[in-house]
Amino acid sequence: MDYLLTEEQKMLKEMVAKFAKEEIAPVAREFEEKGIFPQEIVKKLGNLGLMGVAYPPEYNGAGMDNISYMIAIEEISRYCASTGVIVSAHSSLAVDPIYRFGTEEQKKKYLPALCSGERIGCFALTEPSSGSDAGSARTTAKLIGDKWVINGTKHFITNGEEAEVCVIFAHTDPSQKTKGISAFIVEKGTEGFRVGKHEKKLGINCTSTTELILEDCAIPKENILGDLNKGFKIAMVTLDGGRLGIASQALGIARAAIEDSIKFSKEREQFDQPICQFQAIQWMLANMNTEYEASWLLTYRGSLLKDKGLPYSKEAAMAKLKASETASFCADRAIQIHGGYGYTKEFDAERYLRDAKITEIYEGTNEIMRIVISAAMLK
Ligand SMILES: Cc1cc2nc3c(=O)[nH]c(=O)nc-3n(C[C@H](O)[C@H](O)[C@H](O)COP(=O)(O)OP(=O)(O)OC[C@H]3O[C@@H](n4cnc5c(N)ncnc54)[C@H](O)[C@@H]3O)c2cc1C
Repeated sequence: MDYLLTEEQKMLKEMVAKFAKEEIAPVAREFEEKGIFPQEIVKKLGNLGLMGVAYPPEYNGAGMDNISYMIAIEEISRYCASTGVIVSAHSSLAVDPIYRFGTEEQKKKYLPALCSGERIGCFALTEPSSGSDAGSARTTAKLIGDKWVINGTKHFITNGEEAEVCVIFAHTDPSQKTKGISAFIVEKGTEGFRVGKHEKKLGINCTSTTELILEDCAIPKENILGDLNKGFKIAMVTLDGGRLGIASQALGIARAAIEDSIKFSKEREQFDQPICQFQAIQWMLANMNTEYEASWLLTYRGSLLKDKGLPYSKEAAMAKLKASETASFCADRAIQIHGGYGYTKEFDAERYLRDAKITEIYEGTNEIMRIVISAAMLK
């Protein structure tokens, strides 16, 4: 569907695809098996402008659009979904809210090092007892003198271990649910702020998923992000954009499953012919490709609306819903096409299935996506 891309977007796609094939693909399987965070790769992605694709050059961003961002995340995730979400959580969930809701001082202070990849960012909304129901979060922030004092535990935080700049949500008026939450920028190294438990996971094993613990963590008064008690809105707007990133990650996984299946089905012979000659295999490939292209178009539409400054909340939820289910579907079919080999670690199909599953869960589960979509329909 390259005919929908501009010359600049096509060039970016080519550049990221080349980088991903040469630098990410050779280590993806090993890093995932060993749970290695791709430090050097992230540094190089920063040098290429890919840690801040859609942000202005004055903040060290690449000054491109959200369709370019979608392309970059898909191309990276084609070879390593972990690296895809490291970049996506950093860009969509940490850079974006600071860019969108930060004061000029905050932007100048945080964005250049984030967009260049010198510092990594994270977004901490989820808590042990508060997932889909984000308004039930228990973390609090109290203004004492000229400091916000934050107490609470965030968990399941992507980039939790590596992040130096964290966008954290806390109740500033615990008597209110969603209307009493504010957003804050907390820096690594602040007294009372530490990384807690690391999760062991089914997939995306190059990423850290950790607790962040705040115990009487005092941050400067000016580190509130956006207006007092408007944090829930900031979280929701941020997650709308994040869902386009996760949809793009899912597209990368789906494409990997399709491309590997085509290659394998041409090479593997049974009954004296390549298995791609069997109609059963051809139909699986046809279904996989149709689901992928439908998902791509939905993600493209969401990104285009965001670029045009139009509402895109429902469209982002649709893109994430469709693309994540497509990633799981394609990865499952890829294993089937690979037969017994697909069930082994000799091939990547099993990794795709493990990586795909999380795209149906994080940045809002697909049940929550259906709530967002139907709420917009019934308005
Ligand atoms: C690997 C990983 C990385 C993550 N990264 C981050 C991160 O960087 N930052 C962050 O803040 N969070 C992060 N999360 C948290 C993630 O966003 C949540 O796990 C997700 O939103 C679901 O919350 P939960 O796990 O508490 O499940 P729950 O909300 O407890 O949901 C359990 C089940 O109930 C369903 N359910 C809940 N409410 C409803 C409803 N109203 N109607 C229908 N069904 C419902 C859900 O769909 C799900 O099937 C991450 C999670 C994982 C696993």
